[in-house]
Order: sequence, then C-alpha cells, then structure tokens
Amino acid sequence: MKLGIRAKLFLLILSMVALALVAAQVALLPALDRAWTERLRADLSIRTELVAREAASLAAPLDMLAAWDALADALATSALARVTFIRSDGRVLGDSELSLEDLERAPDHATRPEVLESMRLGHGEALRESATLRSRMLYMTAPFTHAGERAGTARLAISLAEIDRTLTHLTYLVLIGTLVALAIAALISGAVTHLISKRIWGMTRAARAMAEGALETRVQISGNDELAALGHSLHHLAENLSHALAVRRDFVANVSHELKTPIAGIRSAAETLANGALNDAVAAPRFLAIVEREATRLQSIVEELLELSQLESSHRALSRSPTPIRPLLSSLVTQYEPHAQRRYQRLVLSIGKDVDVLHTDRRALERALSNLLDNATKYADEGATITLSATRTDASVLFGVGDTGPGIEPAHLSRIFERFYRADIGRSRALGGTGLGLSLAKHLVESLGGHLEVESTVGLGTRFSFVLGNE
Ligand code: ADP
Repeated sequence: MKLGIRAKLFLLILSMVALALVAAQVALLPALDRAWTERLRADLSIRTELVAREAASLAAPLDMLAAWDALADALATSALARVTFIRSDGRVLGDSELSLEDLERAPDHATRPEVLESMRLGHGEALRESATLRSRMLYMTAPFTHAGERAGTARLAISLAEIDRTLTHLTYLVLIGTLVALAIAALISGAVTHLISKRIWGMTRAARAMAEGALETRVQISGNDELAALGHSLHHLAENLSHALAVRRDFVANVSHELKTPIAGIRSAAETLANGALNDAVAAPRFLAIVEREATRLQSIVEELLELSQLESSHRALSRSPTPIRPLLSSLVTQYEPHAQRRYQRLVLSIGKDVDVLHTDRRALERALSNLLDNATKYADEGATITLSATRTDASVLFGVGDTGPGIEPAHLSRIFERFYRADIGRSRALGGTGLGLSLAKHLVESLGGHLEVESTVGLGTRFSFVLGNE
C-alpha cells in the first residue's frame, strides 16, 4: 500500500497518542488506585484498633445487644466508618447501620473472610464489592476482649466509592484528552505535510520543467533545511546542465567551422581542376597537393575528435604494462629528428640515469609526448633548441618537453588546452594544426593519472611537463 507523507505522519502521531493512552490506562490509573487505598488502609487500621479498645472497656454482657449497638452507633460517628461488633460465635452484637430489630435477623458473620482472618491472625482485612452500595468496600477487623477474655471482633468498613468515582472520572478525562490529542495530531500532521508537500511539489514541477528543457527554471528556496539543500542541488544540476549544453553547442559550432575550411579548400581545388587546370601540367599537381593536404587535415581532425571523445567517455580501457622509458623517448627523437633538422632545430634528449621502467600505457604516453614534440618543432623558430626530458622523483617520473621558441602570451596560456583554441590561428592553420593536439595530450596524461602543466615566457620559450607514477 502506498502511503503519502500526510498519512504516514498521522499514523505516527496516532500511534504515539495511543501508546500514551495505554500507558495511562495500564500503569497510571492502577498506581493511583493503589496509593489511595494504601493510605486509607493505614488510616482505617488505626481507627479499628481504637474501636476494639473501646469495645473492650464496655462492661455490658455479651448478649445485651442494645448496649453494643448503641456503642457501635456512637463510635461510628467519631470513626467516620460503619462499625460492627461480632461475637466469637459469629453473632452480630451491634452495627451502626442496622437497627435493633435488624440485628436480631442479621446473618451469622463468623464466615466472613475478614472475621475468619481476625480469628486466626488477630487482624484481618477484606476488599469487596458491596451489592447494596454498588461500590467497593474496605473492611478492617481487630479482636476485642471482654472481662479479660477474647470475646469477638470489631469491624470497621468504609466505602471506596469516592476513589472509584475519581478513577472513572480520570478514565473519561484520559479518553477525552486522547480524542483532543488525536484531533490536534490530525491538524498538525495536515499542516506540516501541507507545507512540506507544497515545497516538494514545487521542486517536482521545477525538475519536470528542467527535464523538458526549461533549465532557467528556479525553485523557491526557503529556510536552511534538507529541502532547501535539495533545492540548491537542483539549481546546481540545472546550472551544470546549462553549461554542458552551452559547451556542446560551442563544440558543434567549432567542429563545423573547422571542417568547413578544408572542405572549402578541397571543393575549390576540385572545381579549378575541373575547369581546366587538370590539363595544365604546372597547375594540376599544385591543386592536387592542396586536395591531399586538406584531406589529410580533415582526417586528423576526425581522428583526434574520435580519440578525444573516447577518452572522455572512458570507453577506451588503458592497457598498462611495464614500459622501458629510454627506448620510447629515443624512438620519438628519431621520429622528430628529420622535422627538427629541416628547421635547423636542435633536438636534445635528457634522461636521468635512474629512469628505467614505468608501469603505464605505452601508446598513450607516446601519443601525448609526440603531440607536445610536434607543437615544439612546429611553433619554435628555426635554430631553436627542443628538449625532451625524463627525470626520476621518488617512484615517479617527471616528463618535460621544452623549447626556446617564441613562448605563449599569458592571455592565451590558460586557454590553450581547450579544444580548437589556438594562440596564433594563422600560424596554426598554415602548419596544419587542428587546435586539438594539446587538448588530446591533456586528456591522455590525465587518463594515465598525471596532470599536464605549462610554463611559458614570451621571447624565451615554453615548457610542458607532467609527472607519472607506477599505477
Ligand atoms: P594546434 O593544432 O593549433 O597546434 P594545439 O592544441 O596543439 O593545437 O595547440 C594549441 C595552441 O597552443 C597552438 O595553436 C599554439 O598557438 C599554442 N602552442 C602550443 N604549443 C606551443 C609551443 N610549444 N610554443 C608556442 N605556442 C604553442
């Protein structure tokens, strides 16, 4: 069964009230009853003792009912209880509530429990329902003597009607209290849940609107509680989503723009060729070269984008293995040497003696370093020195690619890792750059557990570096 917050809260309060009610009925009222009766009992016991003593001092013979009954009547007014004298054989000698004639007809009292107990133990007591008075009666008995001999039992009786009445009254009060408490519980749970569910509904509506695309929707946040925290989280989520959408929009725009240039190049070269240049022995190879260059650029962009998206969605699992660093860097130098030589650049390899094997993904490391070397040879001027280095620090290796090139302006430095960002667009294009190289290198290094950093001073050079451990 599906219960709303209101029903759950109401049931909770209801069960608490019910528990309090049961506790009152089961524990409180009987305890009150016991305490009251106990006080009455102690009090009545003393009074019974005094009445028995008075009876002992009555000189009238044990068959002179008029004298005993008169004494019972007299003592009853001062003892504030019904007083009865019962002879040892069970005959009632006097009773404050019976007339002399009734006394004659009074039944044998010897078998009454309190009388029997008094015979046996000296004192007796009994608590029983009185049929005539319709309330509980408390009886107390004590023996009395006559002419030095044990002659009978004096009995005092009081009605517990007042206690019974008070207890009944209290029971009603508890019941009424319970009903009032229940009504209040219903009101409170209704009010509280109304407030809570109003806020929850507000958030649900906002979340739905956001899901349908209205990311600017805002929840009204009040207070500083869990719901307010939820509201803030929703806002945060919407902001992140908006940002992600904006990034995606920019990205699609950038990609289209980047693809447009080589495609336009290919098209115009193809058109020129079709319009006659194909038969021109001098122009034809030039235009074909343009087609090839732009197609290669298209290929690089597509490949790098694919690799970036794989890295970002972490679909491509790394395959780590013990990778000897020295041979890897040497082969990179060999690969870029012709490049560097063409531009009269010096390519220096510097490896610490203690750098040997690193447990990492060889291909990813090679790709990241080769992107950095490619940039260095591309952007550093002719005659510059490019250094590829690896130094050991504890269990990690610090990799560096430095150049004595033109450096990067501080304004560009923080953005060069963004996709398609170029500090010098014209130069990048002319050199066949895609604007994705550094972004890819950054992601590759991060996938290996490192962090790609850059330091650059305009006019002095640039150095990219990162530290990799044995993962
Ligand atoms: P590109 O394909 O344009 O080289 P990258 O992401 O590799 O794209 O680099 C981004 C930009 O950072 C480059 O366009 C260039 O302006 C700048 N850059 C990268 N490496 C260097 C370097 N070693 N020296 C100077 N500028 C550099």
